[in-house]
Amino acid sequence: MSDLLARDRRHLWHPYTQMRTAPPPLPIVRGEGVYLYTDDGRRVLDGISSWWVNIHGHSHPKLNEALARQARELEHVLFAGCTHRPAIELAEQLVALLPPGLTRIFYSDNGSTAVEVALKMAAQYWWNRGDSQRRVFVALHHAYHGDTFGAMSVSEASIFTEPFAPWLFPVRRAHAPYCYRCPLGLTRPSCQISCLNDLERILQEEGERVAAVIVEPMLQGAGGMIVWPAEFLAGVRRLCDRFGTLLIADEVLTGFGRTGRMFACEHAGVRPDILCLSKAITGGYLPLGVTATTEDVYEAFLSEDRRKTFFHGHSYTANPLACAVAIASLEIFRTEGTLARVAALERQLRARLEPLRDLPHVGDVRVIGGVGILELVRDKRTKSAEGYLDRVGPMLAAEFLRRGLLLRPLGNVLYFMPPYVITESEAEWALDQITEVLTAWRWPSE
Ligand code: PLP
Repeated sequence: MSDLLARDRRHLWHPYTQMRTAPPPLPIVRGEGVYLYTDDGRRVLDGISSWWVNIHGHSHPKLNEALARQARELEHVLFAGCTHRPAIELAEQLVALLPPGLTRIFYSDNGSTAVEVALKMAAQYWWNRGDSQRRVFVALHHAYHGDTFGAMSVSEASIFTEPFAPWLFPVRRAHAPYCYRCPLGLTRPSCQISCLNDLERILQEEGERVAAVIVEPMLQGAGGMIVWPAEFLAGVRRLCDRFGTLLIADEVLTGFGRTGRMFACEHAGVRPDILCLSKAITGGYLPLGVTATTEDVYEAFLSEDRRKTFFHGHSYTANPLACAVAIASLEIFRTEGTLARVAALERQLRARLEPLRDLPHVGDVRVIGGVGILELVRDKRTKSAEGYLDRVGPMLAAEFLRRGLLLRPLGNVLYFMPPYVITESEAEWALDQITEVLTAWRWPSE
C-alpha cells in the first residue's frame, strides 16, 4: 500500500464509501487534461469529470493563471457589506448568458446550498408578499438536488435520505418523463407527454398552496441519468404559469454546456423564476454556488422592514478566487469553441453508443450533449435491475479502472461524462473500453 493510502486510512472519511469491502481510494497526485495520475504511477482517464465538475481539463494553464493572479490581489472578503470586481464581473457575464430575465445573482458555496437558497428564496418570496399559505414544494420522481436537509427533502426518497426521513419536510411528487420506464406504460411520440398530467393534477389539487415546482431540466442526474423530451420541460413552465407558481430549475449538473446548450432550459426556450448553478461554474476548480432569479423575486425582498430581508449567507459567499476562475472559464468558452466541442462529443457518443443497444444487457441508450448513458438490465424484456445498489456498478467500475478509465456507474446505469476537452481519439479509446467490457459482460449470477 502506498504511503498516501496508509495515511488516508488513518483519519479520513470519504463520501459514499464506508463499506469495509470497498476498494481503497485512488491516491491522485497530479491532473492534466483528461488524465489523473496516481502516486504509484498509473494514468487514469477521468470519465466522470471528477463528479461532473471538470469541463476544460485538469490543471488548465489559463485557469491556473487566473487563480494565481486573483490570489495575489484579494483571496477573500466577506460579502455582506463588501463587494469586489470578480463577483461583479461574474454576475454581469452570467446575466448576459442566462435565459433573459434572470438578472439577480445570489452566491453561495456549492450545489446543495444553491438549492437551499432557491427553496428559501421561493418560500420567503411568498411570505414577504403576505401569501404565507404557499408552502408546498412540488418535485419530481427520481429527483436529486443535494445532501443538505432542504435539498434532501425535494430529492426522491432513497437510501441517501432514509435515515433522515423524520426531519425532511413533506413534498408533493409528480411523474418524471422517464421514457424507458414510462410511469404510464406508454411510448413516444404517441404518448403525447401524458406524464405531465400528473404535475397538472397536483397543481390543481394544491391550488394556491404551491410555493414552487423544482426540476432538474432535461437531465435528471444522480436519480438515474434520465434524459427528457424538451416538450416536458416546456409543459412544466406552462403549468407553473397557469397555476401562478414559481419554477426552480436546478442546473447544478446541466449548467455550462453539459447538455449541449449553455443551460439546459434553452432546449425548451424556458425561463425559470429561479435557477441554480454550481459544479462546472469554476471549470471544476473551486466550490461556488449561484442562485439566479428575476427582478420580481428580488423586489419582494426590498423593504425597510428587516423581517423581509433574506437572512442567508455563508462565510465564503462570492469567494473572489472562485469567481475569478469562473470568469476565466467563461473566457475559455468564448475563445476555445467549447460548445462546438460538446456538439462533436455528442455526435461521437451517439455513433458509438447507439449500436450497443443490441447487446443483451443494454436496455436503453441515452445521449445528451457530453453525456452518454447505458442503462443495463438483467433481462431486456422485464427490464429488471436493482437500481443504485445493483452490484453491477462496482463490478464494472473495477474493470474499467483496471483498464485506466475512471467511471462510477449509478448501480445499473453506466454513464460516460468526460471533460469537454477530451480529444476525439481519447474519447474513442474510452468508448472502445466501454464496448469491449460490455460485449464480454455477463450478469453476475449467470
Ligand atoms: N443538484 C444537482 C442536480 C446535482 O446533481 C447535485 C450534485 O450532484 C447537487 C444539486 C448538489 O451539489 P453539491 O454536491 O455541490 O452539493
